[in-house]
This record gives sequence, structure tokens and C-alpha cells, in this order.
Amino acid sequence: MKIVYSPEYGINYPTNPVENPDRVNLAAHDLEIAGYQFIKPLPASPEDIHKIHGHEHVERIKSKGLYDTAALAAGGAICAAELALQGEPAFALIRPPGHHASANRAWGLCFFNNMAIAIQKIRPRGPRALIIDIDLHFGDGTVSIFQGGDKVKIVNPWSVDGNFDYLSMDQSAYMQQVEDAFLGFDYDIVGVSAGFDTYIEDWGGLLQIEDYREIGRIIHEGSKRCGGRRFALLEGGYHPNLRCCVKSFVEGFG
Ligand SMILES: [Zn+2]
Repeated sequence: MKIVYSPEYGINYPTNPVENPDRVNLAAHDLEIAGYQFIKPLPASPEDIHKIHGHEHVERIKSKGLYDTAALAAGGAICAAELALQGEPAFALIRPPGHHASANRAWGLCFFNNMAIAIQKIRPRGPRALIIDIDLHFGDGTVSIFQGGDKVKIVNPWSVDGNFDYLSMDQSAYMQQVEDAFLGFDYDIVGVSAGFDTYIEDWGGLLQIEDYREIGRIIHEGSKRCGGRRFALLEGGYHPNLRCCVKSFVEGFG
């Protein structure tokens, strides 16, 4: 189990202050003390970014001075996916998040779609991907990028969408949806959009810290059908206990 991380993920860049450097810095500290091995990624190449995002979108990110920051997060995602393909599970402790970035626009603190860039990069070697997006919010960007294709299945357990069904969320039903994500599709790799804002003290107000260990374990178990090839990318999660949620997930996932 490897942690993909760069100290550069912990810098300040122009974004909403809830998406702050401590989100990754504190979790990195905890995981380092716990003895996990860290791998420093390279930025995604312009070619890899352009396979997912249109020219105008990329120029817009450049004009905001965010290109290097966003490209390094995407590079972390690629690194985690490559490790997973080699049989080494990985958690990419990256920011900014990416699942609200579609081909030509982005919102919700996202700029480039880290998951989509990573999946596209490894596609020639692991064509069928199961993406489980456990963030509180519906990963509209990832869904819009892969919609219509039959090689990628995306599951958003009980996420916030236009129907606001999440207001009636139930913990055991949520866990069941994570288990059910593995049904009815043959996959070569599992990618997790690991947002932690469904945490009991975060916006979603549902899951306990220990529930993230169980989610990690369920996904670990489900990945055995594809040789254990699995990786996860940090998406949302804004409570100071994010560090505990991440560690709990990593313990179950690794
Ligand atoms: Zn979210």
C-alpha cells in the first residue's frame, strides 16, 4: 500500500478557503507516522490532460494561475493508477479534487478531472474500470466524461444530486450500496473517488470514522475479482477530522 503525495499539495492556491492545505498536510503527517511508504508524483503531461479536457478549459485554468497545481493533482492520480496496475494498491493524497470537472467546465473546487485523466491514461492496459465515488456529492464531471461508454461503470452511493435523496440517508443502506457497486460488471481495475464529506460531523452527517475503514475493506474485497488492482484519490472532505477519516479508509483499503 503506497501513499502518493507531494508537499506541493499542501500549498495555498486561489480556491474556497474550506479547501485548505491542512486537508492533506495533517493526513500526510498521520500516515507518515503510521509507517506508510510515500511516492512523489510528477505532473500530468499536457497530452494526458488534453485527452480529457478541451483547449478552452485548459486555457481558462492557465489564466487563473492554477495549471501547475491542477496538473500535479492529475499526475498524482496517474501515479496511483499506475501503481494499482502493477499490483500495488495506492491512495493519492491530492488536492485540488477533480470529480466536478467535466471536459469543458469545472465547479465545486475542482479544475481537472483527476480520476478521468488517470483512467484514460491506463486504458490501453486496463480497459474496464469500476469507479466508486464515495464523496457526498454526485461526481457529475466524471459521469459526463465517461457517459455512453461501456468500459467504465461509475457508482455514486447515495450522493447529493438534484433530488436531495441524501437527506434520508441511512448508514447500513449506504454500506450496502458500496457492496452492490461490484455487481453486474466485469472490471480490470477499481478506482475510488474518495471524498469524506459524508462524515458524521461534515456536511453529509452520516458516516463514522470507523465506517470508512469498512468501506475501504469492502472495496479491497471487491477488487480481488480483478487481481486486487485498486487505487483511491482524495476528493472532498472538509472537517478537521478528515485526517482520521483518510487514515481509517487507508487501513481498510490497504
Ligand atoms: Zn463533496
